[in-house]
Amino acid sequence: MTIVLSPHSVKSEDAPKQLLTMRFLSDLNYQAHRDSRAVAICRVWCIDDTSYEHMIRSLWSCTDDIIIIEHDIVPSIAQYYEIMDCPHQFCAGVYYLFYEGWKEPVYSASYWIGSEIHQVKEGDEYCQWPSLGFVKFGAPRPKLTLDDGYIDGRDHSWNNLDGALQGTFLDNLWVEAGRPNRDEFKPWHLHWPIVTHNTPLLQKFERIRMPLWHKDTTSK
Ligand SMILES: [Zn+2]
Repeated sequence: MTIVLSPHSVKSEDAPKQLLTMRFLSDLNYQAHRDSRAVAICRVWCIDDTSYEHMIRSLWSCTDDIIIIEHDIVPSIAQYYEIMDCPHQFCAGVYYLFYEGWKEPVYSASYWIGSEIHQVKEGDEYCQWPSLGFVKFGAPRPKLTLDDGYIDGRDHSWNNLDGALQGTFLDNLWVEAGRPNRDEFKPWHLHWPIVTHNTPLLQKFERIRMPLWHKDTTSK
């Protein structure tokens, strides 16, 4: 079975940008049932900043695949199925990141060369470090024993969970793999084309368009 872990804010002012993701989850529930796919949707109502982390910790050692779809990420059913069915254990759908003051968006997946971080180029197959918005942590997940910020006993807020978890996860995978060349160690398989990241800042870029995926499922 695949567990879809989807954190949502309970703040009413966050509701507009969460609606499309909720609509996707509803459609996924319907479509997966029709297709006899084993999907359990786990909505995490984030009543505080650490609810998201607590749910990941509680699910980490379970024997199911976990796919995270964050509150403002809107894949299509096809994009979801592609990652769910991919034979790679760790997969990420790429989306745009953009923050106030940036000139243009960057892709949500990166890698290091020495101490320099680089964003992947369109079509790259693998990366070291994807953002958590749309990722598959296939089972069995490695036990996290090496600490690069995640297993230090502290609670992690949603806004630093990404860096803490991914750093620790990467370190553990790297050691498990026998410490290959660090710069070439890219355990995350990437999926293209980009997934919609439904934030107001990104909508001003002409190349970002709301997907028409809902037509795929509501017309049946
Ligand atoms: Zn994959």
